Amino acid sequence: MDFTLSPKQQALQDEVREFARTVVAPSADERFRNGRWDKDLWLEFGKHKWPGAVIPEKFGGLGGSAMEHAIIVEQIAKVDCSLGASLNLLQQTNMALLKFGTDERRQRYLPLLASGQSYSITGITESASGSKMTDMETTAVQDGNHWVINGQKTEVHIPQHVQICLVFAKTPGGVSAFLVETANPGFSTLYDREIVGLRGIPMSAVGFKDCRVPADDLLGKEGGAYEVFFNSFDLSRIGNAAKCIGIAEGALEAAIAYAKERRVGDNVVTDFQGIRWQLADLVTRIEAARWLTYKAAAEYEATGKSTVSSAKAKLLACTTAMEATTVAFQITGSHGCFADQPFARFMMDAKLSEITGGTAEVLKNTIARDLLGKPRNPTL
Ligand SMILES: Cc1cc2nc3c(=O)[nH]c(=O)nc-3n(C[C@H](O)[C@H](O)[C@H](O)COP(=O)(O)OP(=O)(O)OC[C@H]3O[C@@H](n4cnc5c(N)ncnc54)[C@H](O)[C@@H]3O)c2cc1C
Repeated sequence: MDFTLSPKQQALQDEVREFARTVVAPSADERFRNGRWDKDLWLEFGKHKWPGAVIPEKFGGLGGSAMEHAIIVEQIAKVDCSLGASLNLLQQTNMALLKFGTDERRQRYLPLLASGQSYSITGITESASGSKMTDMETTAVQDGNHWVINGQKTEVHIPQHVQICLVFAKTPGGVSAFLVETANPGFSTLYDREIVGLRGIPMSAVGFKDCRVPADDLLGKEGGAYEVFFNSFDLSRIGNAAKCIGIAEGALEAAIAYAKERRVGDNVVTDFQGIRWQLADLVTRIEAARWLTYKAAAEYEATGKSTVSSAKAKLLACTTAMEATTVAFQITGSHGCFADQPFARFMMDAKLSEITGGTAEVLKNTIARDLLGKPRNPTL
């Protein structure tokens, strides 16, 4: 076993860390407060090909693997979780296109997605269906050489900045996955939603009204959404885990910097053993979560699949992030309670990360099913 990053991965980590510290961090609180996604900043990411971490070089990507994706997301999420989440969400479309898209679609979209000139979102959740995909009411019916989609998706991000979306809909053979251009006259943004965390990637509800998509935009087989789902979500759960590790590290670093200086009587806050033990527990859990994430990434790279390892990594990382942000908040006392500090942002981002991309309960179900030899059951 080799626990070291390769020189190339180390260089990538250093490069992203420095960019995050100098370019991303200074405006992270403002973006969170104003619920703003920064298209220009995204284009800067694109110049480094970070949105295309796993896209092969022949399509304009970085040509990396799940490891490179995890390295990038962790460093960005450490200062701005919303942008870490943006990098991660995009991988669902990247992977779906790479594995199931036609050559023409890959040539058309992947270079734009890798370079930050385009973005894509995923539409699964509806008002009446969340964790259980088969409850969805959005339908797609075949009409000649097209599919016609009708329905609504209530939790999609920044449709105004998006060229395509990965949409799941019920078809006669089950649930199927489609690529839909947002320029399609059948696609519309219905209303914006005021979310309380991950506010730097705002959320809206979108509608599909007799939205006709060419048969080529059915990804995989009709009724084959689960294959698309697992292929894409195993990777995005690795990214989600990396994102949570970033949140935990970012919150603790900011809290420790303050607590080391904050005098209480003859001590500074970090002199107290009760505080030190909490910090020791948390850095241990963060490191464990990182290695679980890297293990899942290695498995994904080797086999194209990492469902259970990804679930374990995300479970440990998201619960650790929640605890780390709570402790960070606590040890900064009233200093942390004000909006000019990042602690509320870190905490809300951690809470929402226990829900998005596989709730903690759904992840435990995945892990337990594997433990008990039960078949996979795709839930978000
Ligand atoms: C920040 C954020 C970003 C998101 N981005 C997107 C997106 O880009 N695209 C998209 O389509 N959706 C998105 N979602 C939606 C997200 O994927 C859903 O929130 C998630 O799938 C859970 O669905 P739900 O919220 O409807 O919860 P429900 O399915 O209604 O579940 C409610 C509660 O019951 C628990 N529960 C459900 N089933 C079980 C079970 N079998 N055993 C035990 N407990 C269970 C859940 O864990 C949860 O705690 C996003 C959500 C958030 C918060």
